[in-house]
Amino acid sequence: MDLQLSGKTALVTGSTKGIGLGIARSLAREGANVIVNGRSEASAKAAADQIGNGARWIAADVSTAEGCAVIAEQAGQVDILVNNAGIFEPKPFADIPDEDWERFYQVNVMSAIRLTRALLPGMLERNWGRVIFISSESGIQIPEEMVHYGMTKAAEIALVNGIARTTKGTGVTVNAVLPGPTASEGVTDFVGQLASEAKQTPEEFEKEFFRSVRGTSLLQRFATVEEIADTVAFISSPLASATNGAAVRVDGGVLLATA
Ligand code: NAD
Repeated sequence: MDLQLSGKTALVTGSTKGIGLGIARSLAREGANVIVNGRSEASAKAAADQIGNGARWIAADVSTAEGCAVIAEQAGQVDILVNNAGIFEPKPFADIPDEDWERFYQVNVMSAIRLTRALLPGMLERNWGRVIFISSESGIQIPEEMVHYGMTKAAEIALVNGIARTTKGTGVTVNAVLPGPTASEGVTDFVGQLASEAKQTPEEFEKEFFRSVRGTSLLQRFATVEEIADTVAFISSPLASATNGAAVRVDGGVLLATA
């Protein structure tokens, strides 16, 4: 299937590793002109070099208004915005201090609000564009081990719901993609650490995690980054024009409801 992405410019935030890098790779493979983003010049440049195909890079911290302004200015015209940058950290609810709530909100939510606010008007003017929020199944089934993370992922779904309304009758769509547990760098490092603390191999830990923590998963393993990225590439494409205001699940069946 030709996703018809050649000539489109795609900006993926937080794309120096993990799901973001996977999305940037898939979009570049389909012919899009990709812009990667990370906080340091070295990591952003390394990711762009790895992707090749003329990928550009912008070093900026999406968690600040200044960082988002730098990205919006340096990116120029953007046809596809993927709000991917995000952080997670399990912590008991009673131990989450104000600073963590604030930090999670700035990185996971305000970054997407600021960049969408800056780039959506151009898409509407040109009557074509894609905005994709990388939310999570955790935005619907809030995990008790990281309520603050779940809150930010639910906020992203709410934003998509509202912002999509502003695209009525245009060629612009605004959607959320909801990955389930995925073997990104961030998650793999974290799993390795927990497995060694529990004196388990990563494979034993994965099996136990899907038995006891994400028991509803039908996949019963971590999704690969590519499994998420290819769905995002499709939602980015002109072929997905009838999907707007949706929460597209790539959750391995973790969520119990079918809609
Ligand atoms: P990751 O930790 O592997 O990668 C995150 C990327 O974001 C890195 O490139 C990091 O440098 C970048 N980043 C973080 N803070 C940034 C900032 N302030 N400015 C610029 N870049 C920043 O994470 P991941 O697992 O690939 O997660 C990516 C997205 O997918 C997140 O929004 C996450 O919530 C979502 N998600 C992940 C999973 C999963 O299981 N991995 C599941 C559902 C949703």
